[in-house]
Amino acid sequence: MLTKSGPELVRQQNCALVLSALRRFGPLSHTDISARTGLASATVSAITADLEKVNVIGRMEQQPQGGRGRPRVLFRQRRDGGFLIAVRISSDMVQYSLVDYAGTLIDRFEEARNHAISGTAHFSAGLRAALSRIAARSGVAPEKVLAISISSKGTVDPDGRCLIWSPVFGRERIDFVELLSLDWQAKVTVSNETLLVAQALGQKADRAADETAAGAGPRFRGLVALSLGHSIGLGIARKDRAGALEVTAPNFGHMLHRAEAGLCRCGAIGCVEAAAGFYGILRTAFEVPPDTIPAKFVPLAEMDKIAASARAGHRMAGYAFRQAGLALGQGLSRVLSLYDPMPVVVTGQGTRYFDLLQRGLDEGLAQSHQVRLYGPPAISVVLDEQRLVFEGHLDRVLTEMDQDVAALRAPAGETE
Ligand SMILES: [Zn+2]
Repeated sequence: MLTKSGPELVRQQNCALVLSALRRFGPLSHTDISARTGLASATVSAITADLEKVNVIGRMEQQPQGGRGRPRVLFRQRRDGGFLIAVRISSDMVQYSLVDYAGTLIDRFEEARNHAISGTAHFSAGLRAALSRIAARSGVAPEKVLAISISSKGTVDPDGRCLIWSPVFGRERIDFVELLSLDWQAKVTVSNETLLVAQALGQKADRAADETAAGAGPRFRGLVALSLGHSIGLGIARKDRAGALEVTAPNFGHMLHRAEAGLCRCGAIGCVEAAAGFYGILRTAFEVPPDTIPAKFVPLAEMDKIAASARAGHRMAGYAFRQAGLALGQGLSRVLSLYDPMPVVVTGQGTRYFDLLQRGLDEGLAQSHQVRLYGPPAISVVLDEQRLVFEGHLDRVLTEMDQDVAALRAPAGETE
């Protein structure tokens, strides 16, 4: 059996500590690595020498301020230590980004999705072609791509290899690991999009809490990310007992709100999304029967018109947003009842109507025992959701790549 012995495990953990400090704080000197990780100077020397030898980290020189004295030597992840490709699938396009091991964006392009051709076969062929193209454009050899990280709205299997249900492909599953193993040796994962948003927000909040008053302030414990738009997504980022960030994406959008909310895009009746997704708001505003099959895609211009008439005092339009807010508020109060109190960060295209949703949202929250006990959660709005999704891809994959490097640097020995 292959297993790691005590000293090898310690070496692996120390190596992971050094790589994670460089990831978290940027380029660091030998002294700073030692201070940030708590490792002895000799241990840091051994690890950095080893990681330099295998081209995982490199040195850069920083001139001292005022230009006098010897330059400082800083260590950082080497850009050519490996590459990752992030793929963001949305209802109208697919975005491809090529990133190096140091976290630098090298190339990016978007391809419009063809709504006339449904089904996964056409999409899968396009995905394979685009992935090959983005690596070839930058002259990156396929074996240097260590990870392909894909995100979509919808439900992902617990192993992160299949998209089980999505607003884009319905119940047609896509096994990305199987599909891409034809062309790539890279580690392939698929994540729910709002999970990545929660990952990025959680990482940022955790770092900020660490830096205020040198960690003497309140520690980061957790947050909820709520994404509003055609779909409703929710991600939760929490610190576990060991202090690691644990991120999940419960199926909030398709959690039961109430049957009167009508037919949902997923085929069920009364989901949160059936009331609070764009098509749900449109259906209420125009008093369309609730069993009407939901529109696949509601143009933003159409939603803006409903919002304008709600702001002008039109009764049904205002009511539609208020009902949507109520579904979100009640849903959130249920989620918060299952956890400790956490702040809520709202993102997505639907934030442009936040003024119209807020009254219902507050009302929905106020009805719960949890909120009566602890008060309402702090709610903030963050506009740039796409950037957060990208940062979430990077946070997750680069950390995993570092851990894989550390595991390789402490090879498992044969035991009986
Ligand atoms: Zn549903």
